[in-house]
Amino acid sequence: MKRTTGQDRTQTRNWRPATRAIRGGTWRSEMGETSEALFLTSGYCYDNAETAAARFNGEDDGMTYSRLQNPTVQMLEERIALLEGAEACRVQASGMSAMTTALLSQLSAGDHMVSARAAFGSCRWLGDSLLPRFGVEVTVVDATDITAWEAAIRPNTKVFFFETPANPTMDVADMAAIAELARAHGIRTVVDNAFCTPILQRPLEFGIDVVAYSATKMMDGQGRVLAGAVCGSEEFINEVLLPFQRNTGPNLSPFNAWVVMHGLETLDLRAKRQSENALKMGQFIEGRVKRVMHPWLDSHPAKALAQKQMDACGPIFSFEVEGGREKAHALLNALELIDISNNIGDARSLMCHPASTTHHNMGPEGRADMGISEGMLRINVGLEDIDDLIADMDQALDKAGI
Ligand SMILES: *Cc1c(COP(=O)(O)O)cnc(C)c1O
Repeated sequence: MKRTTGQDRTQTRNWRPATRAIRGGTWRSEMGETSEALFLTSGYCYDNAETAAARFNGEDDGMTYSRLQNPTVQMLEERIALLEGAEACRVQASGMSAMTTALLSQLSAGDHMVSARAAFGSCRWLGDSLLPRFGVEVTVVDATDITAWEAAIRPNTKVFFFETPANPTMDVADMAAIAELARAHGIRTVVDNAFCTPILQRPLEFGIDVVAYSATKMMDGQGRVLAGAVCGSEEFINEVLLPFQRNTGPNLSPFNAWVVMHGLETLDLRAKRQSENALKMGQFIEGRVKRVMHPWLDSHPAKALAQKQMDACGPIFSFEVEGGREKAHALLNALELIDISNNIGDARSLMCHPASTTHHNMGPEGRADMGISEGMLRINVGLEDIDDLIADMDQALDKAGI
């Protein structure tokens, strides 16, 4: 195996994101393959017993077992770290295993975490149900209110955890302000950046410590595999996250790593085109419905902050129709091209009704608290021709009587 890039780190550091997404972290075997090799292997053989011993005592840095190292997985990790501008990255089996690993690896009984009210349903479950069972106290705040973060700090607060824009309300949180507050109190910040990817938003540039991903979404980008990633300093990844990950085993399979790696080749193109399409769809739908929650429209309360933090709006936004669940379901049922699906980041346009699907488990009170109404719909705008997508939305709104 020979490294084709990254030997000279100064070279890769100067590469722009689209180049990093295609070339970063590549190792080539003696076969000279163009496309990265897929190492579907759980273990490794040694030339002799002494080499085996040297691998285990750390004198030889070769591989020993795929829960600990795998060449295909490492190529993906290097590529994501380069894209993120992070010192290190480790990938996991899904976005939720990434979030769980990022939090459980650093929290212990007696610690306190502050997390955002508006969040992906399972991320809320980690804070509401899992962490308290292990003696970690959790306070939930409105992420857009910096005074609420400050008021929630206790002497034992270890972590601030939030996503921006948040799913599905599109709340935008001020990363620089939250990171500065956290730093002043020795608190580590963890941001779930699934909606944006490093192509559109790089939280580390705003002082955030740890960036976690569902790579299932924009990184794969074609709705094929589940995957997750955690990026941060070498110290955090190697000393805090890695001991937990290596011994608990939320590993990403080499096959899925290979699929995501090939997804990254088109990430820059997809993120930009899908953002363009999502902006056009948002502009079309505004005025036709009760309310649009879209970070690039003047009606969004934090448009200026969103534009400071993000390079483009991303593929996802939400909107609210009059007539509650009945009309929202009628609109979904009238779609002919856009699919009814709760996935996001896909090249296909997909739409869902959060109250009856992704955020169903929270119950009516939980949803009201988070700002998810019965008339709210969330759309992932894909790569189809935008005129076809708008025509489909137009006919569906008419048919649903909206
Ligand atoms: C999808 C998603 C997750 C969970 O990721 P999986 O890959 O489905 O496990 C976490 N956070 C956000 C914001 C998501 O959109």
